[in-house]
Amino acid sequence: MRIAVYPGSFDPVTCGHIDIITRASMVYDKIIVVVSKNSGKKPLFTVEERMDFIKRSTTHLSNVYIDCCDGLLVDYVKKSGSNVIIKGLRAVSDFEYEFQMALANKKIEPQIETLFMMTDAKYSYLSSSIVKEMASLGADFTDLVPSEIINDIKNKFRNNGE
Ligand code: ADP
Repeated sequence: MRIAVYPGSFDPVTCGHIDIITRASMVYDKIIVVVSKNSGKKPLFTVEERMDFIKRSTTHLSNVYIDCCDGLLVDYVKKSGSNVIIKGLRAVSDFEYEFQMALANKKIEPQIETLFMMTDAKYSYLSSSIVKEMASLGADFTDLVPSEIINDIKNKFRNNGE
């Protein structure tokens, strides 16, 4: 069984992420989407909320599983029986950081490969930060995230604003 791990902070999951998950699910037998607990900046949504958002947005993809991880990603990948990390690439600006991460992971665990998938052009500008910024300022972000989670994002900003 060919298993790939797709890691990220997913704070929150966007249509750009879902596009990568959908395409990867057609190439691999099983995709594990892993929410990383130890990303640098403080997230808006809890790990449980972020996992739940991805779960609700991928119910139509039968070979997609959701998990979280707070140690070294390569350790998680090995334990899961996979040897592939999938990353999405948007612009040149993503390249330098992803290149560094891929080489660092290769140094720690040479058997694990990082494979890059190009963004769909229509999502090339899209990030979780853009969604949060738009939502916080009252702009319409509803075609940038899966429809299943629009109200959760709206509610978070409504509650934060009170
Ligand atoms: P961000 O907060 O920038 O959206 P994440 O850490 O949640 O980033 O992203 C997880 C993975 O998804 C990374 O490999 C990232 O490059 C990729 N990704 C994020 N947004 C997109 C997009 N719009 N198109 C393709 N890949 C994306």
